[in-house]
Amino acid sequence: MKQAHELVGMSREEVVSFVETMGEPAYRGRQIFAALQHRRLRSFDEMTDLPTELRTRLAEMARPASLTVESRYLSEDGTRRYLMKTHDGLPVETVFIPEERRDTICFSSQSGCPLQCTFCLTAQLGLLRSLTAGEIVEQIIIALNDAYGAGNQPPRGTNLVGMGAGEPFLNFDSLLKALRVMADPQGLYIVPNRVTISTAGVVPRILELANVADRPHLAISLAAPTDELRNQLMPINKRWSLEQLLKACKEFEKTLKANERFTFEYVMLEGVNDSEEHARQLANLLNRHDMKAKVNLIPHNTAEPLPYRPSADETVDRFKQILESKGVHVYVRRPRGRDIFAACGQLAARQGTPININSIGA
Ligand code: SAH
Repeated sequence: MKQAHELVGMSREEVVSFVETMGEPAYRGRQIFAALQHRRLRSFDEMTDLPTELRTRLAEMARPASLTVESRYLSEDGTRRYLMKTHDGLPVETVFIPEERRDTICFSSQSGCPLQCTFCLTAQLGLLRSLTAGEIVEQIIIALNDAYGAGNQPPRGTNLVGMGAGEPFLNFDSLLKALRVMADPQGLYIVPNRVTISTAGVVPRILELANVADRPHLAISLAAPTDELRNQLMPINKRWSLEQLLKACKEFEKTLKANERFTFEYVMLEGVNDSEEHARQLANLLNRHDMKAKVNLIPHNTAEPLPYRPSADETVDRFKQILESKGVHVYVRRPRGRDIFAACGQLAARQGTPININSIGA
């Protein structure tokens, strides 16, 4: 096969142009886009509303899907983790988190990650490569199909978080492209307002995202209230300091909608960043920049061989109280899927005992 066209990363208009180059009418392109993105079909064979001859020609030139599911893991709390592989054999991880009123899918933007945050397991992989727009979209399709079956529309809303492996802002163009494709009402129809992207602090992209018309929500991984500590935990801080980061956040804040809040994530590491002094420093940092943000405290998820332990519940409570006493909104994030290494910072292509693929779900 010559260079195969990756259809699942294309917008509706691009699929239409592609079929036109094959000498087909535009409506065929719209039909194929809907088959891929609305019905979530992953092979041309299943697109039985297309003539057999067209399906054969398509299969020669294009690929409707390129990720394969290697294993999947089911947590006691209903969270599912998928370990997938790209066509060139690299790991991709996705987490499906069912909640009462909606589902959340946590997707990866890169295979591995180039940032070297000391508390995160994904860092140990290094960067393997950035994912294509199609590989981002496919993660969502695979998770929804597993939960509800291809062709069935999810009964609840779907929220997306770009908090899986990788730094989304180091794969900015593919990320935005994937978001545009997913927002199409004739397709998945997951609009940017349903999406939150988390960054370790790639300052120029924060400013760039602020100017994107239909943009997702933003979360910033902070992990430390001073440059000294953040330099140690998140080496990206040596490139863009807390001062630069907070200034960019302040710029971004100007573009927030009335009910929109932006979030700082703060992973709680016992004895490292969880003292009362750290809490006061964090509140002062946010207040000095007059940030009306919310802080998500994330108890550290075990990530052996990393030398960290989660802060005790009382420490988290005390930290929260101090922030609140200084007017900062705080939320303690309940870890999901820890038992299957699906929680924050645990995505490192880990194998485990996969549950039987046929034993759950539709
Ligand atoms: N690179 C992006 C996207 C990954 S998000 C970013 O850094 O924001 C992953 C989130 O999980 C980050 O907020 C990070 O602080 C948090 N995290 C990483 N390792 C963790 C761990 N072991 N336990 C709990 N949270 C962790």
